[in-house]
Amino acid sequence: MDGNLISELAHLIRRRQPCVALTGAGVSTESGIPDFRSPTGLWAEFDPHEYATIEAFRADPEKVWRFYAPRISMLVDAEPNPAHFALAELERRGLVRAVITQNIDFLHERAGSREIVEVHGSIRASTCPHCGTASGLGSVVKWIEEHPGEPPRCISCAAVLKPDVVFFGELLPEREIDRAYALARSAGLMLVVGSSLEVFPVAGLPQETLRSGGQVVIVNRGPTPLDDRAAVKLDGSAGEILSALVEEL
Ligand code: NAD
Repeated sequence: MDGNLISELAHLIRRRQPCVALTGAGVSTESGIPDFRSPTGLWAEFDPHEYATIEAFRADPEKVWRFYAPRISMLVDAEPNPAHFALAELERRGLVRAVITQNIDFLHERAGSREIVEVHGSIRASTCPHCGTASGLGSVVKWIEEHPGEPPRCISCAAVLKPDVVFFGELLPEREIDRAYALARSAGLMLVVGSSLEVFPVAGLPQETLRSGGQVVIVNRGPTPLDDRAAVKLDGSAGEILSALVEEL
């Protein structure tokens, strides 16, 4: 790890407040959750058109749940890692205003972050597309354990539930995406962690910060389309880099 780049990052965070973090799947890989677009990511094994689009869900919810059920069990068992804890610590110290996350695993919350904007929803609940009844994660997990291979069903009308996560082809929750864009515009610095910055509209958030006169720093293993415009790019483990950053600050 390049100590000079860590110092530079620390300097920018002190000097360019408020700092807003934007996280993607790469912040959770060190918790044992695979990301999407890496060679070992989910889309190397599963075709997102078959499992992650709203059309796929409407056409065959049972099939999509066969993909989602083990994933939900894995997310529930995962623990926050040093990257999540470092971001929570930076918020406690007043150095990070908020975390905007594309992740549905709520590991930021479990690590102690308070101001979190979940732009792709979360697995906290699943909702019945037919009658709107919501079921909490606990009852969905119980169903999955008790009915292996079967999709969770609504307790009111028995229709197959839909997890409260944003599928490709769905609009993002309006309140969250508006809040995310407002935070991006207000940010003196946007700290991107573990995102390929390939999925819009979230990938447009750092550009919003740049357009509003802020700067962008990127902590990501592998390239992103915004590397050229980042004030600092650190390529490596989010857990190691953010832990070193907390030490430095
Ligand atoms: P991504 O997989 O595209 O990118 C993750 C990045 O993190 C990669 O560049 C990877 O190299 C990097 N990385 C992996 N481990 C790392 C580590 N330990 N330290 C630092 N970097 C690391 O994920 P993304 O950017 O979050 O974008 C994809 C988004 O698409 C997801 O967040 C997801 O919400 C969303 N999406 C998913 C679904 C679905 O599954 N149903 C539907 C719609 C959208």
